[in-house]
Amino acid sequence: MFCGTRTRKDDTMKKLAAADKNICVACGVCMKACPRGAISIFKGCYAQVEEAMCVGCGLCAKACPAGCIEMKERSGVQ
Ligand code: SF4
Ligand code: SF4
Repeated sequence: MFCGTRTRKDDTMKKLAAADKNICVACGVCMKACPRGAISIFKGCYAQVEEAMCVGCGLCAKACPAGCIEMKERSGVQ
């Protein structure tokens, strides 16, 4: 039944942010942009996304000045 609300499965939850640690300059911009607090800077070296906390909104990817965050399809989500 369609109730007019968005469900977790039918939109951004299909996506997951992934930072390329070889390009990341650990500036922390993505961390500040993330509304879920899903990103941390691993040992001050590169951004790391906590998959369980990411809702796939893409704000981090838009904010990253180095363009190293890619939005990937989440596996196992239809
Ligand atoms: S896609 Fe959204 S929720 Fe996921 S890490 Fe980026 S800003 Fe945070
Ligand atoms: S904004 Fe980009 S370069 Fe900066 S820490 Fe995040 S992923 Fe790395």
